Amino acid sequence: MRTLKGRMTDLVATVLALALLVGWFVVGNGIEERMHSQAKNSLLDQVELLVGALGETGLDGFSDILGRLDPSAGTRVTVINMRGRVLYDTQADPKTMDNHADRPEIREAMLKGTGVSSRYSRSLGEEQLYIARLATDPVGNTLILRASVSLRYILEAVNAARMRLLFSLLLAGGAAMTAGLFFLRQVTKPLEELTRAAFSLQEGEKPLFPSSGTLEVQRLASALEDTSDRLEAAMGDLRREQGYLRFLLESLPVGVLVVDDNGRIRYANSALSSLLRDVPEKIEGNPYLSAIKAPELLELLEKAHKGQSGRAVFSVRGREEIFLEAQVLKIDWGVLAVLSDLTDRMRLEQSRKAFVADAGHELQTPLTAIRAAAELLADERDLDAEKRRSMAQKILTQQERMTALVDDLLLLSRLESKVPSEEPEELDLAGLLNSLVENTLASPLAESIEVERDIAGPAVVSGRPGDLWRAFGNILDNAVKYTRKRFGDEPGGKIRVALGRSEDDWEIVIEDNGIGIPPRAKDIIFERFQRAEADRSREGLPSGGYGLGLAIAKRIFESHGGSITAGESTEGARFSVRLPARLSS
Ligand code: ADP
Repeated sequence: MRTLKGRMTDLVATVLALALLVGWFVVGNGIEERMHSQAKNSLLDQVELLVGALGETGLDGFSDILGRLDPSAGTRVTVINMRGRVLYDTQADPKTMDNHADRPEIREAMLKGTGVSSRYSRSLGEEQLYIARLATDPVGNTLILRASVSLRYILEAVNAARMRLLFSLLLAGGAAMTAGLFFLRQVTKPLEELTRAAFSLQEGEKPLFPSSGTLEVQRLASALEDTSDRLEAAMGDLRREQGYLRFLLESLPVGVLVVDDNGRIRYANSALSSLLRDVPEKIEGNPYLSAIKAPELLELLEKAHKGQSGRAVFSVRGREEIFLEAQVLKIDWGVLAVLSDLTDRMRLEQSRKAFVADAGHELQTPLTAIRAAAELLADERDLDAEKRRSMAQKILTQQERMTALVDDLLLLSRLESKVPSEEPEELDLAGLLNSLVENTLASPLAESIEVERDIAGPAVVSGRPGDLWRAFGNILDNAVKYTRKRFGDEPGGKIRVALGRSEDDWEIVIEDNGIGIPPRAKDIIFERFQRAEADRSREGLPSGGYGLGLAIAKRIFESHGGSITAGESTEGARFSVRLPARLSS
């Protein structure tokens, strides 16, 4: 590929060479021929005159005439007889000259009267024009008069003309070249700038288009600039679209993975990384075989590459086990995998199953006891009145336990379905806690227990008094229950109820010096049917005992925007409840 400059140089050089060639031969030869014919005519005229003179004077007078001729004219005159012997010559001694009968012009003159020849003279070392003519001297002898003239000046004139032509052509060529290059620059400079702009466009940089140049170039530049602007706008739209798409994919709660046909990961959103856990930080661009560890997902991806879409549920172990559902399908240029977290659904399902099993189990015990007592009453007719009363009492007690359990279950179900039983109202927590403590103290179970109160009111909250009474009641009942478990009827048992402010919340602390809660059970005791110790006997405890009390309390506090935690305590148990102090609208 040649540049415009190179092509133009070639063109100018070719035109110049052609012009030179034509000038050299056509013009040169034309001039030469013309001068040659002029020289011939003038020599013929001279010969004509000399023949006349020779006829009048003869050879003797002729030399006198020739002596008077201008020597600068350079005409050499030779007189030869018909046998070819040189009789007279203006430049050499005729005796030293050889016979001229064989000279072509002499032979031609002998035959036709006039002979013309031009040839290279070795003795003179130059081109000569010879014209010979028959002449007659006064005594009637036929002689041949030959005149010759050098043609060197013609050659010199032609050469000079050729040199001038060469010089003019070089001058014209130089001028044409300079002008051409100047105009070419007008085109090539903006073209080079256009090329640079096109390259920067290719590199994704902002191109700089030329503002000068010929009209055509400027039109091209403006068309390209227009295209570049549109391209940039389109790229901007595309980038924005891509950004939206990425944002969308990033905000999806499911993991998205795209693998191309070469097995390289083209896209993975952050949900995918957090679901799969042990994936490299920069996952995109890696082969999926090395980046993905979960064997079930690897298998699905492999099958999808072969065109077989699939679905699988598997678990991944991290700090805790999570359950994932992967759906993998073949798309046009690879494979798309979507991962969703099934953990909550699985846990809910497990907890539902556990709940049904636990509730069934808890109901089973009183039902069995009722059946046993009823069978005894039905079968044993001879039972004494005391025994009968005892059996009936047993049935009543178990029925009460069942009713309490069913009540708790219904309450839990209501709390979980978030259907409020009463409208929230402004109430004073200090008053509620004081009444509750009074109520607890009135219970015979709390007789031997010392209760310390640190409740400064009023502490206004927005809440459902019935539910809050129930929640705090459950905690206080537990405090009494588990303190008694340690001290029985003996003194020493202590319960402390404190109400204070912590930032925007009211903080209520209920602690006791009972049997305490093992640290590992601190979280699970708030779950339904969960107890700190599975084998802890519930018999003989009139209320609760199913592991539902704290679950109910927790849900009540949470539905008020608060929380409950089992805290650290040197002795016994310590529960801390927080409720928002600001009035909710
Ligand atoms: P339960 O009816 O078994 O008392 P709760 O839900 O009220 O059920 O309490 C759950 C478990 O938390 C109890 O079984 C007990 O192991 C533990 N617990 C609750 N309060 C106390 C406390 N004050 N002292 C010791 N353990 C407690």
